[in-house]
Amino acid sequence: MKTIAVLTSGGDAPGMNAAVRAVVRTACENGIKVYGVVRGYNGLINGDFIEMDLRSVSDIINRGGTILYTARCAEFATEEGMRRAVRTCQEWGIEGVVVIGGDGSFRGARDLSERGIPCVGIPGTIDNDIACCDYTIGYDTCLNTIMELVDRIRDTTESHDRCSVIEVMGRRAGYLALNSGIACGATAILIPEVPFDIEKHVIERMKKTQRADKKHFIILAAEGVGIDVKALAEDIEKKTGVESRATILGHTQRGGYPTAKDRIMATRMGNYAVKLLMQDIGNRVVAAQKEEVLDYDIFEALNMKKSIDMNLYNVAHEVSI
Ligand code: ADP
Repeated sequence: MKTIAVLTSGGDAPGMNAAVRAVVRTACENGIKVYGVVRGYNGLINGDFIEMDLRSVSDIINRGGTILYTARCAEFATEEGMRRAVRTCQEWGIEGVVVIGGDGSFRGARDLSERGIPCVGIPGTIDNDIACCDYTIGYDTCLNTIMELVDRIRDTTESHDRCSVIEVMGRRAGYLALNSGIACGATAILIPEVPFDIEKHVIERMKKTQRADKKHFIILAAEGVGIDVKALAEDIEKKTGVESRATILGHTQRGGYPTAKDRIMATRMGNYAVKLLMQDIGNRVVAAQKEEVLDYDIFEALNMKKSIDMNLYNVAHEVSI
């Protein structure tokens, strides 16, 4: 391949820039022209490209968000949008595309690969919800950010003998809630993968720990369980007598400097993705498993199922009493 493009798509995640940097530098080092695509698949449809060189990606390894901007593009998921994207790639001589995003973005990459533009996906999502990967770019930073924010809430919660009900991100997956819950010693963790009953899993647990002299409580809920944390805090206060407050961490969780782990894995994955394209291999997802970087067929990857580690879930609840 002589010319490739790189884009970021879907939700942004810290470490995406480190992946873009690795893609650009690997391509340049191997004599491949590389375009940065602006605003995900929108840019691919409209030819919104920036020719990148070694210095275009200077000073971004440490930055959250994505310098290429990201977007959701409904048009790309239509036959006409897809045709326009293929035409634009052909006009610009783009022979392969690296797509950094989540599983929605990978569906687009699969469709584009099927239409003759080989794509390689790199998992970039804070939710860690890509089935073929133990780990996705942005997850580690987000987990650490949540831990720091909850620690701050804990200081005030503890000082007032209160209960804090905190909503963290994770629309379909509870990895962030479960692992930050362990890291922060939450009394109860509510995640979409495990059915729960507020009475049994929150109120009774709190009462049990109250009997063991505990006076302040952290309850973590993943966004995906669809709970109104303010209403839950009011309910808890009524039933336990513990003054309760609700916090939605919201977009504070998304940004910030990527952790070392995110930068290192993003760099390895970006490099790996270009090496695949250099061998004319497309329709693949780069994956991380047990610290190893490997790749899967996109179709196969999208059909894989990821389940929560119930052992971890049980450990969390056994310890937080
Ligand atoms: P994420 O990649 O974070 O999961 P989305 O699900 O929003 O984010 O997907 C990002 C973009 O990928 C969409 O805006 C759309 O352009 C493209 N996309 C999503 N699903 C499909 C699909 N089934 N077919 C083609 N393109 C898709």
